[in-house]
Amino acid sequence: MFYDSRRNLARWFTLSMGSILVVYTGAIYYQKITDELEALDRLLYKKAALMAASVQYEMIEGRLQIDLDNVPLLGNNPQALSTEIVYARWYDPKGQLLQFYGMPPKKQLIVANEFVTIKTTPVRMGRRLKGEWLRQVTLPVQYKGIAIGHLQIASPIIPVKEKLREFLLLLTLCVPATLGIIGIGGWILAGLAMQPIRQAYDQLQRFTSNASHELRTPLAAVLSNAQVGLLVPLEPEQQHHYLEQIVAAAKSMSTLVSNLLLLARHSGRLARESLKEVDLTSLLHELADFYTAQAAEKQLSLKRDLPQLAVKLIAEPDLVRQAVVNLLSNACKYTPTGGTVKLRLFTHYHWAVIQVSDSGVGIAQADLSHIFERFYRVDTKQSHSAGGFGLGLAIAKQVVAAHGGQIKVTSVVGSGSTFQIELPLRRCER
Ligand code: ADP
Repeated sequence: MFYDSRRNLARWFTLSMGSILVVYTGAIYYQKITDELEALDRLLYKKAALMAASVQYEMIEGRLQIDLDNVPLLGNNPQALSTEIVYARWYDPKGQLLQFYGMPPKKQLIVANEFVTIKTTPVRMGRRLKGEWLRQVTLPVQYKGIAIGHLQIASPIIPVKEKLREFLLLLTLCVPATLGIIGIGGWILAGLAMQPIRQAYDQLQRFTSNASHELRTPLAAVLSNAQVGLLVPLEPEQQHHYLEQIVAAAKSMSTLVSNLLLLARHSGRLARESLKEVDLTSLLHELADFYTAQAAEKQLSLKRDLPQLAVKLIAEPDLVRQAVVNLLSNACKYTPTGGTVKLRLFTHYHWAVIQVSDSGVGIAQADLSHIFERFYRVDTKQSHSAGGFGLGLAIAKQVVAAHGGQIKVTSVVGSGSTFQIELPLRRCER
């Protein structure tokens, strides 16, 4: 599936970039043709202007006499200008041919346009009839504002064609090579783009299989206890025992399902309507009161270090409560009898900091980077007997992240752990 998507992405990338490249190359080629023709036209115009400057005029009896003797090619020295000129023609102002050099022209001037590309009448060359492509300029020549004639010259277009052929060859080599590079780039980019999707997919698969695995145990307990209860007639106490087992399994499933729902519901941004002003000081006092009783049952001492003043921020109160509850219940779970659990609240710059520390079993360095992952449980006797699902810290982390905060942990095996929630004191309008 991922391979196919990556291939499709790479293909579409190459196709779109390739089309842009081809259009761009076409534009460059067109520009090159225009540039080369312009250069040839400039040269041709210069030569025509040079020739026109050599024309001499005389006023004889009020009439203008034109002398072309000193004009290169047309005058007495036909080779004087350049051999690149295929023909040169002089027409009078009415377009009648007066003098020419090279190919014999029509008697009347036909093309009055300045620059044109023309093909000469084909001549037989071996088996083939071949005409030559020429660029022709027709220059109207004036004397004191009076038209005295037209000068028409032409030169072969072959050098331009040669240059363009070389350029085209270069493009034909470069375009496929660039397309190849684009293809490879597209493949690499598609791979990079697929990476987060693949990770999310793997995570989802892991999550689904973990969730089903966790649900299987209580479900099996419900099924086996119910089956035993139905098989044989039981004494009321025995019946009570099996029903208790079923209730315990159902409770466990219900906790798991509500945890999963919590994770699913708050995976993105928080709803604006659910945000309220929360007084962390009183919230933590309330939780500390509740957990003091719980801790006392396990002969733990719960200390609190909360500020006198209210520490207020905008948050979703139930979620913040859930995150702190998860930390407090873990601290109580993983601290042996006689230990201490401490709840602290203080502000640091623009942050409200909640610290839950304990003198419990601690967490090994290797596990610290994983404990916030969903369904991760440290493989210790305490974790097994505590019987959690490995979702408490994942929920706490997600809740804190949704509020724009962060959660940190430091721990020493055998000495205890400190979990720290940092929430921004600014309005949590994320
Ligand atoms: P669980 O519900 O299994 O406790 P958590 O996500 O809350 O899941 O915790 C993940 C793991 O981190 C637990 O299996 C436990 O081993 C370890 N852990 C969490 N809090 C503490 C703590 N205060 N002291 C020692 N270990 C802890």
